Amino acid sequence: MLPVTLDPPGPNEVLVRMVASGICHSCLHAMNGTHGGMPTPLVLGDEGAGVVEQIGAGVDEVAVGDHVVLSWAPNCGSCRFCVVGRPVLCNRMGPAGFLPDGTTRLHLDGQPLHHFGPATYAEFTVVHASAAIPIRRDLPLDIAAMIGCAVATGVGAVVNTSGAGLGSSVAVFGCGGVGLNAIQGASLIGAHPIVGIDLVDARLELADRLGATEVVNGSGPDVAARLNEVAPGGFDVTILAVGAMAAFERAWESTGPGGTCVVVGRTPDGERTSFNPQTIHTGEKRLVGSIYGSVRPAVDFPKLADLAFEGRLQLEDLVTQRFRIDQVNEAFAALAAGDLARGLIVF
Ligand SMILES: [Zn+2]
Ligand SMILES: [Zn+2]
Repeated sequence: MLPVTLDPPGPNEVLVRMVASGICHSCLHAMNGTHGGMPTPLVLGDEGAGVVEQIGAGVDEVAVGDHVVLSWAPNCGSCRFCVVGRPVLCNRMGPAGFLPDGTTRLHLDGQPLHHFGPATYAEFTVVHASAAIPIRRDLPLDIAAMIGCAVATGVGAVVNTSGAGLGSSVAVFGCGGVGLNAIQGASLIGAHPIVGIDLVDARLELADRLGATEVVNGSGPDVAARLNEVAPGGFDVTILAVGAMAAFERAWESTGPGGTCVVVGRTPDGERTSFNPQTIHTGEKRLVGSIYGSVRPAVDFPKLADLAFEGRLQLEDLVTQRFRIDQVNEAFAALAAGDLARGLIVF
């Protein structure tokens, strides 16, 4: 086995001892080559939480001993996107696979080993300080890990991106880790009705438990008619939390006049679609993207942790299974088979 080494944190970087890491579809895409443009070899893991062990020069946002949720979108804090509160669009943080200074702290047999975001599938990781967000210490760190991707992405897509509010009708296509959190977000802000659509009944049961007022199995007959029964004329907000093109078309068709269709799931590289542009014009429909739930990690992560602590966001219910790091392949197989709402690697 070749030796993997991790350098100490450089300026504006933080060394974190990992406590848990979520099993995310993004990592599965990277592993099977459908997440284009990632350099290899690399350490996967875009969702995790842990304890700060060491800080580099110039770090003052976070201290040794802090409990932190890791973000996969470090930000500079001063570019025009950061300044207007859209830090996930920051483009000053270096190419994918590297820390923002353009190098890696990870090495494999002396050669650079790339970081997939915060590279959380390891007992220790080094991240940019803006990617280690302190949260309250009384929320268990294993479930807090999910705040760093699935929760932020799903809740944020509804609360930050969609414009949904009290009484908005919301349909969520895909009830995996992200979709279930979109349902929780819709429930938090008083959206109604809230429909979860998925092909797997077990996930629909979970959607029902986490705030969906209706669930629809997308493989059943008359799906369009069922949806139209729930929200005649179409939904105010549709959330597309899967990458399947058939779901995209269904979500767009289900979006009503004045409504907003939010694309959250990553479609396969090179995919194309077509639709009648008149449907945008005549109904004033909006098609918008949401990356990472338009989250502002430094502000939103601690708030999501508070909501989870108070029981207004359910995190434990999302966890289908816990794995050890040496069971990671088993965990990915379960994710690919659709068996996991969320799996956690616990160190
Ligand atoms: Zn993720
Ligand atoms: Zn920036």
